[in-house]
Amino acid sequence: MALELTSSFAVLDARFRKLALPYIHVEKLYTGCRWAEGPAWFPAGRYLVWSDIPNDRMLRWDETDGSVSVFRQPALNSNGHTVDLQGRLVSCEHRSRSVSRTEHDGTRTVLASHFEDKRFNSPNDVVVKSDGSVWFTDPSYGIDSDYEGDASPSEIGAQRVYRIDPDSGVVGVVASDFVQPNGLAFSPDESLLYIVDTGATHQIDGPHHVRCFRVAANGSLSGGEVFATCPVGLYDGLRVDVHGNLWLSAGDGVHCHAPDGALLGKVLIPEAVANLCFGGTKRNRMFICGTTSLYAVYLNTRGAR
Ligand code: MG
Repeated sequence: MALELTSSFAVLDARFRKLALPYIHVEKLYTGCRWAEGPAWFPAGRYLVWSDIPNDRMLRWDETDGSVSVFRQPALNSNGHTVDLQGRLVSCEHRSRSVSRTEHDGTRTVLASHFEDKRFNSPNDVVVKSDGSVWFTDPSYGIDSDYEGDASPSEIGAQRVYRIDPDSGVVGVVASDFVQPNGLAFSPDESLLYIVDTGATHQIDGPHHVRCFRVAANGSLSGGEVFATCPVGLYDGLRVDVHGNLWLSAGDGVHCHAPDGALLGKVLIPEAVANLCFGGTKRNRMFICGTTSLYAVYLNTRGAR
């Protein structure tokens, strides 16, 4: 007899049963955010850091005792975060319109704030490749209002995807044909880069999909075909597991797509989800930022890298 999955999971393809675990429920670890975003896991410290963007703070959940504390406030209305190859926090900041790195001694280094002498709009989400290059998206959300940044006109006049070269630190454009680029993640071998477009927030019938690009050794992208279109709300952040499955935030939870594009199943969350990441000592626990709350669920897979 097959072991039962709980109501935390929706199975749409039999393959999803191998990725979920029986008897497991989604747990709510914390509530009290206005707009939770940007989870990042720190393996050495066994803690998770995430953003509460409108409250201008970052929170920290400690795996050793389950406590939550304020990690940073004010936090420059930070949004997406990641952890680089040296274990340092890399952050997208709406109010500074920058991507920064928090050094091991706690000081903040701005990695990028301008392109061609113009300030970015409001960096949204970021990923670090194994060569040390930093890739980030720059939609307009953080300058559209005073709610999650400082309302301001765009200086750049475009919403693009950028790459910071690991050797020179020079910022280059890698994609410019987006309405509102948002979450992004590499496939396990880094040959593919998935990038979400949430342009439906700004255009009637605008994009609400994730695209797939091929990544060349020199950091240039090609392709960019639509990989999947979000059926409920909007995709925002995403992560990829060791098998190459995509785990995408959506209006009703986290959607899991196989590398062939098929929607395999969902982790159901009672609030709209903005972002997620893998963590825990085995990277087999998914941490989910769902509007006001932080959720977690164990899975039978692990986050890539
Ligand atoms: Mg985002």
